[in-house]
Amino acid sequence: MSEAIPGMPPPPPPAAPRPAAVAVLYRRVGEGVEVFWVKREKALRFAGGFYAFPGGKVDKADAAVPMRGASGEEAAMRVAAARELFEETGVLMAEGAEALSPERLKEMRRALLAEERTWGAQLAEAGLTLRAQDFQPAGRWITPPYMPVRFDTRFFLVEAPRQAVAELWPGELTEAVWVTPKAALERWSEGTALLHSPGVHVLQVLAKFDTPEAVLARLEAPPHCPDFIATLVEFQQGVRIIPLVTPTLPPATHTNGYVLGPEELLIVDPGAEDEREFEKLRDLLSTLEAEGKRPVAIVLTHHHWDHVGGVKMLKERLKLPLWCHARTADRLDVPTERLLVDGEVLELAGNPPQRWRVLHTPGHARGHICLVEERSLAAVVGDMVASVSTIVIDPPEGNMRDYLTQLARLRDLPVTTMYPAHGGPIPDGPGKLQEYLEHRAARAERILESLPPEGATLHQVVETAYSDTPAFIHPVAERSALASLEMLMEAGRARLQGGRYFKA
Ligand SMILES: [Zn+2]
Repeated sequence: MSEAIPGMPPPPPPAAPRPAAVAVLYRRVGEGVEVFWVKREKALRFAGGFYAFPGGKVDKADAAVPMRGASGEEAAMRVAAARELFEETGVLMAEGAEALSPERLKEMRRALLAEERTWGAQLAEAGLTLRAQDFQPAGRWITPPYMPVRFDTRFFLVEAPRQAVAELWPGELTEAVWVTPKAALERWSEGTALLHSPGVHVLQVLAKFDTPEAVLARLEAPPHCPDFIATLVEFQQGVRIIPLVTPTLPPATHTNGYVLGPEELLIVDPGAEDEREFEKLRDLLSTLEAEGKRPVAIVLTHHHWDHVGGVKMLKERLKLPLWCHARTADRLDVPTERLLVDGEVLELAGNPPQRWRVLHTPGHARGHICLVEERSLAAVVGDMVASVSTIVIDPPEGNMRDYLTQLARLRDLPVTTMYPAHGGPIPDGPGKLQEYLEHRAARAERILESLPPEGATLHQVVETAYSDTPAFIHPVAERSALASLEMLMEAGRARLQGGRYFKA
C-alpha cells in the first residue's frame, strides 16, 4: 500500500463500544484454582481464534431480568454474564438451580440458545433467582479504538458451585476446558493460545490466587490500562502490537507496528511520522524498558511510506540501527546499518530467547521480508496479507508470480498465526493463505475470460473483471490487474498488442 487514491471515501470513525459482560468461572483445586477458558471460533469477527472467557454483549432484555442485590446497569451487566455463562458452558448460577435435574438444565439451555423462550421467562418458570453476590466485579475493559468491533466489557469473577458441570456445545466455541492459569500462560508464552490483554491479566492474577478479596482488587486495577483501554497488547508472549495512524489504503486507517522480543526488542514497521503517534510508541517502549527490556533495532518489512514514516524520527531520537532487505534499503533516504537476507536468524536475548527467521518474500515489494518465530512459527507478514483492506500488486515494483510463490511458501512452511500490517492477527495462517491463493487464481481466470476477440484496454479489463468491486477501488484494482496480465503473458496465455490485451 503506497499512495492515497483520489475519490476514496474518508476512513470511518472508530466504532462505538457496545456493552458486554464476561464471566471468569473458577474452581478451587488444591492450593490454587482452575479457570474455565474457551477458544472462540476462528470465523468470528471479534477475537476469532483467540482464547477467552465465556461472555458476550448485553441484550436489551437483560435490563428487565431481576437480579437480587443490584439494580440498573450493575444488574443488567450481571444478568448478561449469567446468561452468557449458561449458554456457553451450561453452568447456571442462580438460587434454586441446584434443585434442577441435569435434563431440565439441558432443556433450558437448548431453549435459550434456540431463542424459544427468553432468559427472564425461563428463570421465572423454574423459580430461580439471580444473585449479585455470585458475580463479583473483576475489572472493566474497553476494546481499543483501532479495532473494527468494540466492546465496553465488565468482567465478573464467578466461583463454580461444587455440582456444576461445565461443557461445550458446538457453536461459536471450538474448545472449552478447565485449565490452571499457569498452564494457560505457558500456552500463551509458546504462541499456541492467543490472548487479548484482559485474558493475560486475569490469568496472571489468578496464577497467584491468595484470597478472593485480594484477587478482585488486583483484577480491577490492571497495569497499562488508562481509561480502561489497554496500551500493552501482547497476543502471544513477545509479540506486541502498536497500531499507528498512517496515510494508508482505506478502509485501513492504521499500520501495525510490532515490538518483538523477550528482553532485546525489535521495532517492526514504525509507519507514523506524526508526533502524537510517535509518543504512543515511545510510551510503550518506556513501559517495556521499565521491565528491563531494551530495543536493539528497527526492522522494516518493506519500503512503503505507511511502514517507514517514523523511521527517521526513531533513529534520531532513540539512536537505533535500521535493518532491512537491500531492495528496501535502496529506496530509503535514511542509512541502513544491516542488510537482511533470506534465511538468516535474528536472535533476541531473554528468558527464553526468541529467534526470528528472515524470509525474503518479494511480490508486493521487491525487498519485502517476513519474520517467522522459530518456536511457534508465528509470522510477522507485513503486506503479504491483511485482515482489513486488500493487498495491491503494483508493477513494476509488484510481481504477481513472485507474490503467489511467496504466499504458497508461507502456507507450506507452514506458518501458524500471521501478524499483518493492517488489521488484527490471523490465527489460521495457512487457511488464510490458501484463501488468498484461490482468490488470486480465480481473479486471473476472470481477467482472462474478460478478454474479447477484439482485445481490451487495461481500463476495460478492470470494468469487466472487477465488476463485483466498488468503482472507487478500480484505480487500485487496475494495478493488480496489470500484474495478473503480466503473469498470464509470461505463461503464454495472454498477449499485448497496440495497447490492447488479447487471449493468446
Ligand atoms: Zn505496502
